Amino acid sequence: MINILKKDSVKRLETVLGRKKVRSSLIERKLYSYDATPIPIKGKVPLAVVFPEKAEDVIKLVEVCYEEGIPMFPRGAGSGLTGGAVPLKDKGIVVSFEKMTNIEIDIDNATVIAEPGVVTYELQKKVEKLGFFYPPDPSSYKYSTVGGNIAENAGGPRCLKYGVTREYVLGITAVIKEGKVLKTGNPVIKDVAGYDLTKFLVGSEGTLGLFTSAVLRLIPKPAERATILALFEDLKTVGKVVTEIMKSGVLPSALEFMDSSAIEAVERYKPLGLPKVEALLLIEVDGSPNAVKDQITEISSLLKKLKIGFEVAPDEKTAQRLWTARRTLGPALGNLKSGKINEDIVVPRTYLAEVLPLFKGVAKKYKLQVVIFGHIGDGNLHVNLLYDKSNTEEEKRAEKAVDEIFDITLSFKGSITGEHGVGITKKKFLKKQFGDTGYEILKGIKSLFDPKNLFNPGKVVDLEG
Ligand SMILES: Cc1cc2nc3c(=O)[nH]c(=O)nc-3n(C[C@H](O)[C@H](O)[C@H](O)COP(=O)(O)OP(=O)(O)OC[C@H]3O[C@@H](n4cnc5c(N)ncnc54)[C@H](O)[C@@H]3O)c2cc1C
Repeated sequence: MINILKKDSVKRLETVLGRKKVRSSLIERKLYSYDATPIPIKGKVPLAVVFPEKAEDVIKLVEVCYEEGIPMFPRGAGSGLTGGAVPLKDKGIVVSFEKMTNIEIDIDNATVIAEPGVVTYELQKKVEKLGFFYPPDPSSYKYSTVGGNIAENAGGPRCLKYGVTREYVLGITAVIKEGKVLKTGNPVIKDVAGYDLTKFLVGSEGTLGLFTSAVLRLIPKPAERATILALFEDLKTVGKVVTEIMKSGVLPSALEFMDSSAIEAVERYKPLGLPKVEALLLIEVDGSPNAVKDQITEISSLLKKLKIGFEVAPDEKTAQRLWTARRTLGPALGNLKSGKINEDIVVPRTYLAEVLPLFKGVAKKYKLQVVIFGHIGDGNLHVNLLYDKSNTEEEKRAEKAVDEIFDITLSFKGSITGEHGVGITKKKFLKKQFGDTGYEILKGIKSLFDPKNLFNPGKVVDLEG
């Protein structure tokens, strides 16, 4: 019976969309049944992988799926780290947006209409040639997509000054329940009509509907940037120095942190000549040539006053080498141990000095190697707990340690995620963060957009149970 049902649903999708847009070989279905999440998630092999080429295809496929009760699992590049694109239900389909890559640039209005499959880096290169800037810069920007970035409300180092993806999304067109088209926002900066539906969709992780396009805001490209490397002999001072920098009147375009284990991991993976210290900060400033000069002078004199060792990268090549070290951390950690739980908690900056040693203490209590780095300027830290995958006892200890990391984060008025989203892996902590009333509202929003629970079911909010 199930097999007949499977065949009928796939056939109907093939009839409606055309055969080349619906792939159902076992190998293709298996290839689209996981994403980049480093911990194992029991995904299901989907019935088919569907590749819409235009908005009309998405409307048609949602109409079929909504009528037949087929769960839909949207997917960009599959670089998500919380299982967002992993199919969780039997008889579901993966909807891959990789073929929807149109970009329309309206330079006079400094906006772009982008389809969800556009790779963020490609968009950035195109607008930068025209003197404009699209700042959101997750480390995965060279392959992750605009749709995935919007669905996760992705961020990166530049978000300290420029804000996360949300700040650049002026409007979204999404296909929601029964194939209805919801168009939110306009290509305007100011728009306060009604509830902000665009913001409901940003960060919705594919659970409210499928995006078919977005109106994005561009800003002028900064003319220059420069980087300072600050070195620390003790972890406690880092938080204090970050607070002083942020109070100094200079807003860095990036303020990144690496602890001693992170430095060691990079040096082992790709020796870049980083010094052996307890921690380092990478401080980037940008703007006009004069503004860059002034900001460098300001931060240099502050660091001198605080007796922190530092050097200003003398040229772009040296600066790039330092940023390569920061971006190399992902693969570098893979070299240390076979298993990694990479959390991306956020705490108010003022608590950094207290929480950093507490996180180290949790790792010590559970006898785990911990590597901490991240976007410290906005209080967003990647706490990486490393374990040996073949050692189930060590893996269990790592899971317990994560619970404590989240408890500490919430007790310091923080958030369980600053950029990777909730997906599957943080669902149980979302309830803790929102409380009963907040969680009821989240469920209400989900039911309104998707009463049959067919858009990415099993992620973010649980409607069942
Ligand atoms: C090495 C590495 C570094 C990373 N660094 C960062 C970082 O610095 N900052 C950061 O924020 N993230 C980072 N990430 C995580 C990840 O790259 C981001 O979450 C990214 O936004 C996911 O984009 P994607 O195109 O790969 O989407 P996917 O992983 O395919 O999907 C992500 C979510 O978006 C949904 N989705 C995708 N397309 C649509 C659509 N059209 N409509 C509705 N929902 C959709 C999916 O269902 C899923 O829930 C990193 C990942 C890796 C592997």
